[in-house]
Amino acid sequence: MTRESGVIKNGKVLLERIQALLDDPAHIDNPLRAVLQEVNDHIQSQNQRMERLLRISDGYQLLEHNEALTLSERCDKQIKRMERLARISDQYQRNLWEVTETLRQAANQDPLTGLANRRFLMERLKEETQRAARKGSRLAIALMDVDHFKQVNDRFGHEVGDVALCEIAGAVRQEVRRYDVYGRWGGEEFLLVLPDADPEEAVMVLERIRQTITALTVGGDDPAIRLSASFGVTLLRSGEDVDDALKRADDALFKAKREGRDRVVLGD
Ligand code: GH3
Ligand code: MG
Ligand code: MG
Repeated sequence: MTRESGVIKNGKVLLERIQALLDDPAHIDNPLRAVLQEVNDHIQSQNQRMERLLRISDGYQLLEHNEALTLSERCDKQIKRMERLARISDQYQRNLWEVTETLRQAANQDPLTGLANRRFLMERLKEETQRAARKGSRLAIALMDVDHFKQVNDRFGHEVGDVALCEIAGAVRQEVRRYDVYGRWGGEEFLLVLPDADPEEAVMVLERIRQTITALTVGGDDPAIRLSASFGVTLLRSGEDVDDALKRADDALFKAKREGRDRVVLGD
């Protein structure tokens, strides 16, 4: 069903009036009749063209549709449309946030163990170093290396080795303090940063991790291999570069290996 626009409606009223004058026998001899007939034909043809134009235009369709609604219905419709847009926009924001978050995590996480990766650890290590310098607080830095891990791979294959690394990561996660920073430094090596820890406390946390790891086995019950790890730990010195502290932790780790593995060595 179509509705006429105001222009067309006015045109039709005028046409009806002209037609009535033309049809009136009283004006049959009026010299203006011919002109009136011309005007009549002209308006009629204009109206037809206008109607055709409006019918095919989107604007007319919308006008037609909206005119059938009351003002409050139109408002309601607009509000619903805006609500739908807001919902889509909210969902879009949420999706965008999730993608960004996933990317951020992927950039900071070791895919095998789910622990922080070296890139993230390096960032956090710098932050913790600056914080310790600012507050004049202690910061223990430790390196941990799984003992004879090559044998695990050689005997049981790389996949079992991967499972073992995940279990070791779990042991670290379980035994650290809430605010410690830890992660996979690379291969079968892990880094731990223990803020506000004096040497005794740092050694105590690492001992706890060491013991939990020795309770882990790989390769089933029968020919099982017991896992163990060695630790080297040092305290950051005032004004010291992070790399120098890492070097001392690595030296202490080397000493732990040399002295027989499965132990914690507190370096200089
Ligand atoms: P050490 O006690 O002296 O540390 O002996 P090790 O055998 O642990 O040391 P080595 O450096 O000779 O070997 C490390 C092994 O760790 C070799 C490497 O294949 C294995 N490894 C490193 N990363 C992964 C990993 O992501 N998955 C598995 N399955 N093995 C890994
Ligand atoms: Mg190693
Ligand atoms: Mg090793």
